[in-house]
Amino acid sequence: MKPATDTNQTLFERAQRVIPGGVNSPVRAFKAVGGTPRFVQRAQGAYFWDANGQRYTDYIGSWGPMILGHGHPAVVEAVQKALLEGFSFGAPTEREVALAEEILQLVPSMEMLRLVSSGTEAAMSTIRLARGATGRNKLIKFEGCYHGHADALLVKAGSGLATFGNATSAGVPPEVVQHTLVLEYNNIEQLEEAFSLHGTDLACLMIEPIAGNMNFVRATLPFMRRCRELCTQYGALLVFDEVMTGFRVALGSAQSVYARDIPGFAPDMTVLGKVIGGGMPLAAFGGSRAVMEHLAPLGKVYQAGTLSGNPVATACGLATLREIRKPGFFEALSATTQSLVNGLQAAADAEGVAFSSDCEGGMFGFFLLDTLPHNYPQVMQTNSPRFNQLFHGLLDRGVYIAPALYEAGFVSAAHTADDIAATVAAAQAVFKTLAK
Ligand SMILES: *Cc1c(COP(=O)(O)O)cnc(C)c1O
Repeated sequence: MKPATDTNQTLFERAQRVIPGGVNSPVRAFKAVGGTPRFVQRAQGAYFWDANGQRYTDYIGSWGPMILGHGHPAVVEAVQKALLEGFSFGAPTEREVALAEEILQLVPSMEMLRLVSSGTEAAMSTIRLARGATGRNKLIKFEGCYHGHADALLVKAGSGLATFGNATSAGVPPEVVQHTLVLEYNNIEQLEEAFSLHGTDLACLMIEPIAGNMNFVRATLPFMRRCRELCTQYGALLVFDEVMTGFRVALGSAQSVYARDIPGFAPDMTVLGKVIGGGMPLAAFGGSRAVMEHLAPLGKVYQAGTLSGNPVATACGLATLREIRKPGFFEALSATTQSLVNGLQAAADAEGVAFSSDCEGGMFGFFLLDTLPHNYPQVMQTNSPRFNQLFHGLLDRGVYIAPALYEAGFVSAAHTADDIAATVAAAQAVFKTLAK
């Protein structure tokens, strides 16, 4: 319920005068769902408190990084210690090496990596490296997958496979996206056709293996197998954008989930972010030694960053990875996420609401649809007014899910069985009110 003075609203009005839309990243503005964004005052464990002092159970966790929950004591201690030693040096540190070693050990498809400050930067640098290493310009991406906002990746499908994509943002010249081919996710026929037309000109195929930017949609096993085969056959690099799924869906990231079913499966390059920074600006990209040695100062592909490998961010990331690699961590996290998804499904079923859901590790998705979608057009069949009703119903009951139906959700190690039960009860109360 709204208090007499809504400080969120006051802050939003103040913010809109000085920051476009009042936010520093568009989805935060609640444009899709309407209403006033919650301005976060502080967070602890599975909760945050808004400017009115209202508590919410947080299923966004900064869009994935906060896998331990907010303010985990071991992470706070590591960050405080690092801060006292210095914020930034612009010179190498041991902690960068330790973080790189830790990541490479957990994701063995990479032999080397480079640290950067955002997922956008990591994906953009990966594209440049893939082009530099292969001497080719073209790339494939999939509709509904997000790889950050580098110009060449802000593209939607063109009118056919022989033509390339159209920019999804103003300010991106057609020449910049003319090499980007956008295909339908999980469509093997289209994939084969694209490779037969352009395979020998392709530098890379970039994919979110479990797409978290069209809610939660898995690449099917046959589709992933075919991506791997065609990239190998044509000499294009298979790039896994695991900025969201990395260390979130499994300790070995999404590639380890596919390797369970496809023996020996591995991508050529991996893009990481979110969890590896534990909430600090940190991301990475890596692959084989042969490919990575094309990067400056060894090779001819330029890439750099004033704050890359920042000492405070690496301390935060290292402390986070050391917690999640403890025995039993992912088993417990997966069980919590599964109990949430099962509870929501049962509540929807009980109220006769069309609902489907899926999860992996600490990441989940649900749809107000009878069956799980496999591509972006199917995701977009969700009735958005119904989703918005669900979103606001949950928000009013102190449950914070993504303010848009095309976003995944996240559970942290701080979420308890009681938190899950309370969320499921809140959801059931909202499902009762949803028009059938
Ligand atoms: C969040 C995300 C990005 C962009 O990362 P930023 O740190 O926001 O620039 C890229 N790819 C995927 C899959 C993401 O989820």
